[in-house]
Amino acid sequence: MSDISIHPSVDNGIRPGVDNFAGGTLKCKCVSSPVEVRINGNVAFNHACGCTRCWKPDGSLFSVVAVVSRDNLSVVSGADKLRVVDEKATIQRHACVECGVHMYGRIENKDHPFYGLDFVHVELSDQEGWAAPEFAAFVSSIIESGAKPEQMGEVRGRLKSLGLEPYDCLSPPLMDLIATHTAKAKGVLA
Ligand SMILES: [Zn+2]
Ligand SMILES: [Zn+2]
Repeated sequence: MSDISIHPSVDNGIRPGVDNFAGGTLKCKCVSSPVEVRINGNVAFNHACGCTRCWKPDGSLFSVVAVVSRDNLSVVSGADKLRVVDEKATIQRHACVECGVHMYGRIENKDHPFYGLDFVHVELSDQEGWAAPEFAAFVSSIIESGAKPEQMGEVRGRLKSLGLEPYDCLSPPLMDLIATHTAKAKGVLA
């Protein structure tokens, strides 16, 4: 066991997801009347993220964040407690005003490559079977949150030992999706 904590949901090893998982309910950390978000079906592109904007549990170097089609996400309780953290950010992260947990992030720009996808943290659900994290994104960015530069070799080693290939942007398939979208918008690709 490494003494580096990547994220509580992966530190003891990664549990594989379940095929045909039906989905579940995310709940914020409020003890009374928590915000509840229902997700139909499984998430995709689940990953550890080192950026400074994604919500992380206390003491965690990374968030664990996945995407789901916005059509498959609905706020079923406590919608009045949700506020957008930063209206100017590309991803509008809807957080609970009482406990601070981000319940979902949404892209409203129709021209964005990821328009139509919402970003969620499946650790907020009691159900098991969500697609497992596949890689680690924006690894170098944890330095901006206080990680020591000289610690990075150990962090990347720990990510690899967990099976989470470390990238300093997104994974190659996601970077290819973004570039394909841009190429099509420019007319370079038909
Ligand atoms: Zn809350
Ligand atoms: Zn992030």
